[in-house]
Amino acid sequence: KQKILNQLKGKETVTKGGRRIELLANIGSGEDVDAVLENDGEGIGLFRSEFLYLGKEQLPSEEEQFQIYKDVAKRMGDKKVIIRTLDLGADKQAPCFPMEKEENPAMGCRGIRLCLEHPKAFKSQLKAILRAGMYGNLSIMYPMITSIGELGKIGEILQIAKQELQEEGKQYKDLEQGIMVETPAAAMISDLLAKKVDFFSIGTNDLTQYTLAMDRQNEKLESFYEPGHEAVLRLIRMVIENAHKAGIWAGICGELGADTRFTEEFVKMGIDELSVSPSRILPLRRLIRSIDEI
Ligand code: PEP
Ligand code: MG
Repeated sequence: KQKILNQLKGKETVTKGGRRIELLANIGSGEDVDAVLENDGEGIGLFRSEFLYLGKEQLPSEEEQFQIYKDVAKRMGDKKVIIRTLDLGADKQAPCFPMEKEENPAMGCRGIRLCLEHPKAFKSQLKAILRAGMYGNLSIMYPMITSIGELGKIGEILQIAKQELQEEGKQYKDLEQGIMVETPAAAMISDLLAKKVDFFSIGTNDLTQYTLAMDRQNEKLESFYEPGHEAVLRLIRMVIENAHKAGIWAGICGELGADTRFTEEFVKMGIDELSVSPSRILPLRRLIRSIDEI
């Protein structure tokens, strides 16, 4: 079996009908790059940056972050690397980011909300990513977006980050920017959001949690928690259509993107990219190459 999969290294991820799907990897630290290269990932579709903060008493400096992003960018060469800005809160807590105890943390100050509440820390991460952009093919992605207004606030902080880099004489690159579509709100206004960003990556883990109103970590809900619920599939279809109408691409970086029961359906919906854990890349390439879709 592994031998058959190994033969797919270096091959294109393309349907029998000739439609190309980008097959990228999700990573949670710089060390995971080995597994991406080993499994012939076509890039990194989701670099979760939380590891830089988790368990740390002090916020990582701009320089520290820059070195890590730069290293990943260089190792991936001209392959795409999408760095997701800090997504703390809910299940992910870090001592360097003191958070008030909340009744409903999953619906609390998490993801982009937390970053917009701490613009200094956010700006330092943005500066590190922009600088690392000089060394590879980087993009920035924002988690937990629910509104156009949030994009406006991000834009303002990004502008200041660039201005400061210029003043400090540090080189940087203007990078493509995308959002995670992982709240029902973002999916519902994806036609509007699509006009403001360069790409969408659908986070089905949270999108399922918030659409079904079921805690993704509550094991007691296992018999109710239905991956690939029709409600979620309809939202995904809508998001892809709205992305394409605006001329941007849409991918899936949540677990559902690696669920082979739905791969053909996603391809039929017009999905452009799937980002999955490294070990899922070759099995998915194999499956996609057997699909007839044009
Ligand atoms: C998601 O919500 O689907 C996702 C990819 O992000 P995370 O699992 O890190 O919340
Ligand atoms: Mg998420």
